[in-house]
Amino acid sequence: MPGFELFDDEERKQINEVMERGVLMRYGFGAARGGVWKAREMEEAIAKRTGAKHALLVADGTAALTVALAALGVGAGDEVIMPAFTFVASFESIIAAGATPVIADVDDTLCLSPESARAAITPRTKVIMPVHMCGASAEIDELSQIAKEKNLLLLEDACQAFGAAYKGRALGTIGDAGCYSFDFNKMVTCGEAGAVLTNSEEIYERADMYHDHGHDHSNEDRGAEGHPFAGYNYRVSELHAAIGCAQIAKTDRFVGIQRETKKILKAALSSVKGLTFRRLPDPDGDSATFLSFFMPSEESARRAASSLKAAGIDGVFHWYDNNWHYIRKWDHFKNRRFAAPISSDILNAMPDYSKVSFKSDEIISRAVSITIKLGWTKDEIASRAKRIEDTVRSAMAER
Ligand SMILES: *Cc1c(COP(=O)(O)O)cnc(C)c1O
Repeated sequence: MPGFELFDDEERKQINEVMERGVLMRYGFGAARGGVWKAREMEEAIAKRTGAKHALLVADGTAALTVALAALGVGAGDEVIMPAFTFVASFESIIAAGATPVIADVDDTLCLSPESARAAITPRTKVIMPVHMCGASAEIDELSQIAKEKNLLLLEDACQAFGAAYKGRALGTIGDAGCYSFDFNKMVTCGEAGAVLTNSEEIYERADMYHDHGHDHSNEDRGAEGHPFAGYNYRVSELHAAIGCAQIAKTDRFVGIQRETKKILKAALSSVKGLTFRRLPDPDGDSATFLSFFMPSEESARRAASSLKAAGIDGVFHWYDNNWHYIRKWDHFKNRRFAAPISSDILNAMPDYSKVSFKSDEIISRAVSITIKLGWTKDEIASRAKRIEDTVRSAMAER
């Protein structure tokens, strides 16, 4: 998965183009930059690839979510529905916006359950925020339908799903806004960066201003620009954008490699009795960053993950035991440990999550994901497929 596996002269060439001029900032310095605008170039590439009307490159994926929520007008008194299985950035960005995270269950898609999302709606709900986990789509048609019916906004966290689609539409372009991450571990990487996508001129303009201190970007002279509302600094640097320009051109190649590899690994695991695969609402749109499957029990899943690691397979996740991706281990969040006190409005609106149990446990406790790497040779793939199959089969047999 991580695009850094296939760094080459293209990334170096892009970085050098920036350094030859020495302008590391995306705005201003018109004469000095000699026509080099890497953040703009990457935004155009994202828009072209995804079909989104607007793409705004920002500092990272968490920033993208934070900016998107502000652009959607989410703030004090609002609730945002998010899944229990995601990255911590989901609740972080909602709390940063001043809103209340409402945690709903995931189903065997590993993504937000439409049924659970519907049940979580209250009069304060403003946004449904599904997360397209592990490179593939949530039940996005159904979730869109619920949002429409209940007059809510839909924000897609597609941070793990750049290059993936649902029935031909790029993930991140289906909701009112969508977000990508290009952090160092993502398939397309800038080192650090993220993007906000939208088809709405108004949401784009608000995001554009909010992410740069409220600058309206109306003038060559930054000091003379207007500030319709207060913002913050979530800008990306030209150096990060430059790497992204080289990486994004490799998207089809990355996805192609991953799909081929995944097919081989999946075929090998298909022969293991008792194992089922993650349900994909659109298998054709899968970016194939991970192969995810379910063991019959929490114990057999834990056993499969640890024996895969012992067998030298890296990038194996038993998400139930992972500190960052499932609510079970978010004790800082559940016990309300923040760096400084947060608004009592947010706290009062939340249940005591340390005491809430989730149906998702039944799914996530049994889920195992294997990262599909880009750099494996044909021989490595074949030998891994065999090792994965043998290891999981014996983990199954010990049941
Ligand atoms: C990576 C990720 C983010 C945050 O992205 P950063 O660029 O690391 O801030 C948000 N949500 C999900 C689901 C992610 O995987």
